[in-house]
Amino acid sequence: MLKSMKLKKRHFVLLITVLFVGVSLINVYFDRYIPPDRPDTESAFHTYRGTIHFHTVYSDGGGDFERIIEAAMNTGMDFVISADHNTLKPVSSGEEGYRNGILTIASVELSTVYGHIFYANPDTSIAQLPIDSIFYRFEDPLISKGTFIIAHPFLPRHTYKNWEWEGYKGFELFNSDYEWRNDSPLELIQALIAFPFFDSALNFLADYPEKGLVKLDSLLTTRPCIITAAGDVHARIDITDSFFLPFPSYEKGFNTVQTYIQTAKSFSGEFKDDKKMLLDLLRKGSTFAACGGFSDPEGFNFYADTGGKNYSMGDTVSIYENPELIINIPDMTDIRTVIFRDGNPVLETDDWNIVFQVMEKGVYRVEVYQLRNTLPFLSRVKRPWIFSNPVYVY
Ligand SMILES: [Zn+2]
Ligand SMILES: [Zn+2]
Repeated sequence: MLKSMKLKKRHFVLLITVLFVGVSLINVYFDRYIPPDRPDTESAFHTYRGTIHFHTVYSDGGGDFERIIEAAMNTGMDFVISADHNTLKPVSSGEEGYRNGILTIASVELSTVYGHIFYANPDTSIAQLPIDSIFYRFEDPLISKGTFIIAHPFLPRHTYKNWEWEGYKGFELFNSDYEWRNDSPLELIQALIAFPFFDSALNFLADYPEKGLVKLDSLLTTRPCIITAAGDVHARIDITDSFFLPFPSYEKGFNTVQTYIQTAKSFSGEFKDDKKMLLDLLRKGSTFAACGGFSDPEGFNFYADTGGKNYSMGDTVSIYENPELIINIPDMTDIRTVIFRDGNPVLETDDWNIVFQVMEKGVYRVEVYQLRNTLPFLSRVKRPWIFSNPVYVY
């Protein structure tokens, strides 16, 4: 009697385990990478794909710049911007440049009294300054040529403290290092089970960035603000003092989130000019944040067209110029796009070629979702895909 009960208990545990593994695999499978079904659209702008804020052997990352370039090539990057902790050594060591065709820039992640802050400056003489002085002398002419972006503002233990500080231009809407820390142990286990099977298993941990968007809309009522998506990849989990696992790899991290630059002008191929152009576009917010692990965001565009002139994200356009918002969605299936004015939705559509006549002044931004199934009821849920920077209509 006792023996058969034990046996039944063992069967029950086995059944639950199999069910849990099965559900995990199916759920993570629903969140896999699906190549987009691209429409034929024309745009005044094109985009460059990049990964910003990752760590190398210059601080606590697992790989050197050779390894970074290899991963960038494997993941289709046009540019990379490193952000090692409290050092600009990669700049003075000559790591920057066009390396295998990839625009390679080094910036820094500053540990400050307010929290961690990403900082990039096109002027290389910045690397000669004492690193601690950068944050405190943010109004200095040389230092203010650079851009401060608040890193992982909601990361526990590194929560950003001073939103009143006038030095920053924006914040990281996505930070992969935060994405996995804000999930429940159950979700983490599901992702871990599926990790060996699906390249895009990390997508499962990407959540709708509600806190960040509420913050963004509230900041936009008083000041311009930009958002970025940061991989914050370390590719390093220390096991002993001398041994680490390169997990998750730079490739997996780079594939999960990206920051895209939108520009009418192409890069020239001259490193110095292109570095300045890229960092100026980043500073202005002619960029969008993407969870490209779900599908390829290449081809997304958001701008205002006044008939004679086009205004990119980050630009200001007068209502008297009669602007239309143009949004190109690079996928014709299972997507949903929402336009927001001053934080309120003004249009929700499944169209991929959107023309929106602006009737009111305000700050306009766009969110695009991938619609994916989820268990237990196979309901369609919105998974985060593309988040634009604003176009300002005044
Ligand atoms: Zn950090
Ligand atoms: Zn970091």
